Amino acid sequence: MLYDYCIIGGGILGLATARDILRRTPDASVILIEKETMLACHQTGHNSGVIHAGVYYKPGSLKARLCKAGAEATRQYCTEHGIAFETRGKLIVATDAMELARMDKLAQTATENGIAFTTLSEAALREREPNISGLGALFVRDSGIVDYRQICVAMGTEIEKAGGTILLGHAVTQLRETADRVDIVAGQTRITARYVIACAGLQSDRLARQAGLDIDHQIIPFRGEYYDVSPEKRDIVHHMIYPVPDPALPFLGIHLTPTIHGELTLGPNAVLGLAREGYPKRSFDFDDALALATFPGFWNVAKNQWRSGLDEFANSIFKRRYLKACQKYCPGLELSDLVERPAGIRAQAVARDGTMAQDFLFNQSPRTLHVGNAPSPAATSAIPIAEMIVSKALESMAAR
Ligand SMILES: Cc1cc2nc3c(=O)[nH]c(=O)nc-3n(C[C@H](O)[C@H](O)[C@H](O)COP(=O)(O)OP(=O)(O)OC[C@H]3O[C@@H](n4cnc5c(N)ncnc54)[C@H](O)[C@@H]3O)c2cc1C
Repeated sequence: MLYDYCIIGGGILGLATARDILRRTPDASVILIEKETMLACHQTGHNSGVIHAGVYYKPGSLKARLCKAGAEATRQYCTEHGIAFETRGKLIVATDAMELARMDKLAQTATENGIAFTTLSEAALREREPNISGLGALFVRDSGIVDYRQICVAMGTEIEKAGGTILLGHAVTQLRETADRVDIVAGQTRITARYVIACAGLQSDRLARQAGLDIDHQIIPFRGEYYDVSPEKRDIVHHMIYPVPDPALPFLGIHLTPTIHGELTLGPNAVLGLAREGYPKRSFDFDDALALATFPGFWNVAKNQWRSGLDEFANSIFKRRYLKACQKYCPGLELSDLVERPAGIRAQAVARDGTMAQDFLFNQSPRTLHVGNAPSPAATSAIPIAEMIVSKALESMAAR
């Protein structure tokens, strides 16, 4: 069967993209192929559920621009589709003089990004969150919480209502681009499309290479391990509580996050994974580990980040150490309060020289577009990212 568009990946980006194509070109034939038997089984279904406001990101970057727009679009989408969300606000807490200085820099970035915030003194912080201790904090009013799986289910329904097809349980194993089409093999099924958009998360580099693109990066999986805070202590905080991030590191640090379902989670850390889709601790996949070991970018990251890598690894093994990172700002939590919760795995694109892609990244051939790097805040930003992807795809199609 010949489709106008084939989208690979049933995470939030693939779904938002298929939905946007059908909104902008209602007559187009669209198929979305997902290898799992359910939507949102990987990053989208294993994240912190935060609607980020857009504080952290380099001014002018896609992340900065699309996160702010995405937060607004996410709230609007949830309102229109009856999906629960809460705009509880986030506190970014500084616990020592160095973090206070970093917090001031973060405040500058937030200002440049047009994000509303209030700077809280130690006393004002304690008044807002009596169980949190710090020397000061940024209060970001517009940060919220949601269950991104519920958004995915709603988008899936919309796609099917608009005439799109969703094919679950079919892994794309071959992509062959010719002058006028792309031939796709997914399980036992063969499909042809005029244009392919791959939003394949942890497998995105493999699909791009299968399609013949000459890309420099590879996906390195970083596990994000979580704990649930025991029900008796779930009310210990009301807002999301984040540490001030270390600017040298790509992740935000272990945070306390209420979920929309009433839980309170602690995490995630950022530990190198030896299996891209292996969620239990110590998961190992031979092909994934071999891909890492033979990739110079991995060794360059290991050389540059070994100290923080060891730190994260130790936090992963020793729960008490993990807890200590959080007790810095929430001293009332105890070891017995933490119950293991399923991990998430981040797809982080890394170049051969070891540079971690900071911004969203896309790679294109005449008839394919591959999302190369879409880590946090890509769930928040999914709707405007999808609009951008679809504009690029429509331009490419118009040029044919
Ligand atoms: C621990 C963690 C915490 C995070 N917290 C937040 C947060 O609070 N807020 C936020 O905005 N962002 C957060 N993120 C980031 C966010 O979850 C991701 O950026 C977003 O989900 C990416 O969506 P995606 O559709 O690109 O990828 P995914 O959700 O990973 O979807 C990719 C899909 O492609 C499918 N696929 C792969 N290969 C094939 C193939 N060959 N054939 C068919 N299908 C294929 C996969 O099965 C998968 O379903 C977090 C991420 C993690 C891991």
